[in-house]
Amino acid sequence: MDTQPHIFFFPFMGHGHMIPTIEMAKLFASRGCRATIISTPANASNIIKSIERSRQLGLDIGVVLIKFPTKEVGLPEGCENTNSLTTKEMMDKFLVATTMLDQPLEELLFEHRPTCLVADVFFPWANQIAAKFGIPRFVFNGTSFFALCAYASLLQEEPQKKVSSDLEPFAIPNLPDEIFTTRQQLPDHMKEESELSAFARKVEESELTSSGIIVNSYYELEPAYADHYRNFLGMKAWHIGPTFLCSKDKAPRGKDSIDEHECLKWLDSKKPNSVVYVCFGSVANFDDAQLMEIAMGLEACGKEFIWVVKKEKREEGREEEWLPEGYEKRMEGKGLIIRGWAPQMLILQHEAVGGFVSHCGWNSTLEGISAGLPMVTWPVSAEQFYNEKLITQLLGIGFDVGNQRWSMFMGDCVKREAIAKAVSRIMEGEEAEEMRSRAKALRVLACEAVEEGGSSYTDLSALIEELKLHSTGSVSNKDSLP
Ligand code: UDP
Repeated sequence: MDTQPHIFFFPFMGHGHMIPTIEMAKLFASRGCRATIISTPANASNIIKSIERSRQLGLDIGVVLIKFPTKEVGLPEGCENTNSLTTKEMMDKFLVATTMLDQPLEELLFEHRPTCLVADVFFPWANQIAAKFGIPRFVFNGTSFFALCAYASLLQEEPQKKVSSDLEPFAIPNLPDEIFTTRQQLPDHMKEESELSAFARKVEESELTSSGIIVNSYYELEPAYADHYRNFLGMKAWHIGPTFLCSKDKAPRGKDSIDEHECLKWLDSKKPNSVVYVCFGSVANFDDAQLMEIAMGLEACGKEFIWVVKKEKREEGREEEWLPEGYEKRMEGKGLIIRGWAPQMLILQHEAVGGFVSHCGWNSTLEGISAGLPMVTWPVSAEQFYNEKLITQLLGIGFDVGNQRWSMFMGDCVKREAIAKAVSRIMEGEEAEEMRSRAKALRVLACEAVEEGGSSYTDLSALIEELKLHSTGSVSNKDSLP
C-alpha cells in the first residue's frame, strides 16, 4: 500500500503567508511527502518559479489553481494578493472574497483525495470541508509562539476592555513573563465588537477544533512560550522552523526582485556589519511624509544602507516627491534604494549587513534572527507589536523606533531623529555588540534546530509519522488527532 502522505497546502494570498507555506511544502516534500499547493491564477507564476528548482531536484511538489472571485466582490481584475491592496475597503473586500473559496476547495479535495489539508489560519471554514472527506485539517499560523500566546490571552481575558484610555499600559494576563501593552497597539476588532471580532472568534475556534497547529518557529527561541501554548492553552502544535533554513533551493521568494547580482555586488564592496537593511514587508505602505523622514534619518545617522521602498521608479531625470532634493546623488555608493521587491533573504545573510530595520512581520523577524542580526523594531499592524516585544524585551536583540499605534498600513509618523538614533544604537557601540552576539547565538540554535536530531527536525518527523498512519488508513482521524 502507498504510504506516501499527500498534503494539500492552502496559503492565504499574501506574500507573508505564501512564502513560508511554499517553504513548508518544500520541506515536507524533501522528507518524502507529496506536496500540492493551492492558489489562484494571478499568484501562480510566482509559486511555479519558487518551486521550479525543487522539482528539478526531484521533489514531488505541484500547484493546483482555483479562481479568485475578484469580480464578485468588486475588486479590480488580477487583485489576488494583499500586496496589491492600498485601502481598508479593498482589504475588507479581499477578506470576503477569501470566504468564497470554500466551494472550490471542496471540489479540489473531492477530485484529488489528499491525506490531509494544511490550510491558512485565515480559512477557519476549512475544518468542515476537510471533515467532509474524513481527512485532518492542520492550521498554518505563520507567527511566533509568543504572539500566539499573547493573542489568545487577550482574546480570552479581554483586559483591553477594562482600561480607561488607549494609552494606559496593562499586563497581558497569564503569560510566563510580565509583558505590557496598550489599547493603541491593538486592532479595532479587539477593542470593540465588529464583523472582524466575529471572524477572529471563528478563527480561534477553528484552531481549537483543528487537528493541530504548525508553527514556523523553533523551540530554543521561545521555550517558555512553546510550552505555555501546549501545556497552559492546551493546543496541539508542531514547531518545524525556520523552514527556509532547511531548503537547499535558493529560488526567488515572493515576487521577481531587482537584479540580485547587482545588489550582492554592491554589498561585496562593503565592510562586515557596516550596512543596515531597511524593509517593511509586503503590506505596510508608508506615505511620502514618512518616507521623507526615513530618508533624512538614514542620512543623519551616517550609516551605509539598503532601503526597500514600495514605489515604482520615476522617469529618468525626475526627482521623487518622497526624497529630499538630490538625495540619491548625495547617497551614491553609500545608500542603495530598492524600489519594489528585494531579495531579502540573500541581503540579510550577507556579511556586510549588520542590522535590520523591520516592521516585525514574523517571516522578517525569523529571517533577521536566523541571520544573527540586531533589529530596530517598527511594528505597524497584524501581530507585529507582539513580535516587537519578543525581540526587544524577551530576546534582547533590538530597540524599538517608537511607533505605538496599530494601523493597517502605517502608524504615527516616526521622526528622523528617532530613526537615526535607533539605527545608531543597533549598529555601533557596546550595546550593539552585545545584541549582535545574542542574535548570533540564536542563529546557531536555529541552524541546529533544523538539522537531523534537532528540535524542529524531530517535531516534523513526528508529524509525518502521524500522517503516514492516515495514508495507510490504520487510524481514523478521530482515533489519533483531536
Ligand atoms: N520580502 C522580500 N522582499 C521584499 C519584501 C519582503 O523577499 O522586498 C519577503 C520577506 O523576506 C518575508 C516576506 O516577504 O519572507 C514578508 O513577510 P513578513 O511576515 O515579514 O511580513 P508581511 O509582508 O506579511 O507584512
